[in-house]
Amino acid sequence: MKMIKYQQLLPSLYRFEDTCHVYVICEQDSAIAIDFGSGQWMDQARGLGLPPITDVYLTHHHADQCSGLVSHGKRRFKVHAPKGTEAFLKPHHVATFWKSRNSAGIPASYHVLPNGVTGITFDMFAGSDQFWGTRRIRFMPAPGHGGVHSLNILMDHQGKQVIFCGDSAHAGATLYQPYCLEWDHWTDSGAQGALEAVTRLLDVKIDLLCPSHGPVIDQKQRPLLRQLQSKLHKFIRSKGSICAGEPDRYLEPSLMPCGARQLSEHLYQFGDNGYLLVGENNEALLIDPFSRDMPALEKLLDNLGDLRITAATATHCHADHIDAMPAVKKKHQLTMWLHPLVAHAVANMHELDIPWKVTKPIYPDQMQPNKGYWKWNRYRFKVAHFPGQTWWHCGLMTEIDGQKILFAGDSFQPASRWKGTGGYCSMNGARFKQGFEKSAQLVLDWKPNILACGHGTYYRFAPSQFKKIIQWSRQTDKAIKALCPTKILKRDYDLHHFKI
Ligand SMILES: [Zn+2]
Ligand SMILES: [Zn+2]
Repeated sequence: MKMIKYQQLLPSLYRFEDTCHVYVICEQDSAIAIDFGSGQWMDQARGLGLPPITDVYLTHHHADQCSGLVSHGKRRFKVHAPKGTEAFLKPHHVATFWKSRNSAGIPASYHVLPNGVTGITFDMFAGSDQFWGTRRIRFMPAPGHGGVHSLNILMDHQGKQVIFCGDSAHAGATLYQPYCLEWDHWTDSGAQGALEAVTRLLDVKIDLLCPSHGPVIDQKQRPLLRQLQSKLHKFIRSKGSICAGEPDRYLEPSLMPCGARQLSEHLYQFGDNGYLLVGENNEALLIDPFSRDMPALEKLLDNLGDLRITAATATHCHADHIDAMPAVKKKHQLTMWLHPLVAHAVANMHELDIPWKVTKPIYPDQMQPNKGYWKWNRYRFKVAHFPGQTWWHCGLMTEIDGQKILFAGDSFQPASRWKGTGGYCSMNGARFKQGFEKSAQLVLDWKPNILACGHGTYYRFAPSQFKKIIQWSRQTDKAIKALCPTKILKRDYDLHHFKI
């Protein structure tokens, strides 16, 4: 039997340090548990002579809160979970979740059991309560770390008001696994949820705050929660504009009859993300081929007449910038060139847990340098790692019709578009000093005339925008570190832990 550390917090109130902390509240002949962990704590509870458990209440659906329920098929106790968490606990919903888990952007939850759990009653609602004999179990809203439907649980015990707060607060005014607040790849919705949970905790008197991880907080809970509120405000700000107040510096193109936009004599933008660069001998280079843009490319090629696409490349690994590579390669017999990091992501897509993956591995014909120069036709490109929205991203700059054009993918956008960026989140491998700041500094050093970005945006470069981005990146790094229990991003926030 594996020994599980435990602690008696108050008479008849125990905490077991399982995969999450499990709190057991005892009466004369029965007990209830808040969360379940691996279930290994049960042997120990029996050994201590605690009465049998009649009910388990889950604060949220994460695997570390309830994995042990899977093997407790024939239970002698009831399991209750927050209404709405069926999506991550009921086996048939869980099967659907895993089926679509890797086919789109950020998953609806980061920590779902492989097959779910049977026999759970979803009868816990925010603001409602249940009774255990005459004792009241009150549920409070706790969105954020555990998704929209997580709940905190308030009980009176031995004359004290005790709150079991799941992972909605952690000692040190921090949050366990802060990446769980990233409900999508770019907005502050999960962080706003977490702020709501902390604010609701501040509504009530707390004598003992019992989180699912880290020490119990038995004093100064209000200052801790207020500090956590202020850290969440900073985190929310970091999910806002990365270059507030900057003009868009829109560049007017010429419109082609086929709907494509001509940016200069030899450069065209088509569909959502595609660029076509025309060189000598009627050769053309395709940048960021997205399957949905292929009809627009066909129209553009019809419009331009006698052209041969002889090469293609992509700024980053997201499917909407690269998924048409195999098809265009076959159709045009072109050479596919990729930056080593972009190639790594699409060739090893099965091993990398990132959003917007391609559905099948893609292998380039030729590799561009990690940092240096790459030549296609008469154009000499500067190439470098250009992390931001995703780690697996490069920047490519060359002179076209007398202007330095930087093909910059999804990291930077004009201020009016998506808060000035295609977003940041841990699952995309977002980093700050080595990510956004490094790339913004590279733009400042390379001084392009124009940034040709994804999603149909191209705009004139101005240093003020990228200086603001560097400031934003530094503040964001600080804001996230402040939320990490260990203060180390790699340990608490970074889902990829790659070498830098
Ligand atoms: Zn959790
Ligand atoms: Zn992207």
